[in-house]
Amino acid sequence: MTARKQLSLDLTAPPAGNDEAPPLNFRRSARARHLQIKVGPHKGIEVIVPRNRGPDEVARFLEANREWIRNTWQKLKRDYPEAGQLVLPQLIRLPSLGREWQVAFADVKRLVERGDRLLLPQAGTPRQAALRLQAWVKQKAAAALPPRVEAWAARTGLEPGRISIRGQATRWGSCSSRGTLSLNFRLMFLEAPEIDCLVLHELCHLQHMNHGRSFWALMERHMPGARARDRRLGEGWKLVPAWALVK
Ligand SMILES: [Zn+2]
Repeated sequence: MTARKQLSLDLTAPPAGNDEAPPLNFRRSARARHLQIKVGPHKGIEVIVPRNRGPDEVARFLEANREWIRNTWQKLKRDYPEAGQLVLPQLIRLPSLGREWQVAFADVKRLVERGDRLLLPQAGTPRQAALRLQAWVKQKAAAALPPRVEAWAARTGLEPGRISIRGQATRWGSCSSRGTLSLNFRLMFLEAPEIDCLVLHELCHLQHMNHGRSFWALMERHMPGARARDRRLGEGWKLVPAWALVK
């Protein structure tokens, strides 16, 4: 019996009244010293098993953490319904462009955009398909975001240096001391007012490299209600589909 089977059996013996058992992904690690559990919207629940740990030890570890795993999993499922499974999209909507694309697999060598259809190569893993789609969204971002920055720069007189489109794991954007604006391509999953808020936020950092009173006053001057909108930007991560977060 493999470790994986034994462990999942162990966990599916549910305490009374509980629903589905959380799916666990096991990963052997030569470097890890301790058994660890990592949780994230795109990897689900990952159990990292050091090379020298046997199934019994792993099962005891999971049993000891059973409640925590269940609670964490339920919370993750509530916030990210697709957590732990890589679901490729049938439709991609980029709200700020007011457009959507049907996604289909086809006999193509690379991703092809044809009108409102995106054709994905049949060859490759779901992860590769997800990365292809991400690269495509990034292209859209590279075309759409700099003009927005320029429009706000013209309106506010806050002129950035370079604009770079990136795939930061945890932030929508940043502004360096040299004036480079780094914008996350996943902004494309937000509505235009939210994107504008983030763009203005980073531009205001050209003048105030902090989140002090003057910073917020400057933002509010150019966008009334900016502070409240800015506070809601964190929620925007829930609009980013799991496939767009895969590494
Ligand atoms: Zn900031």
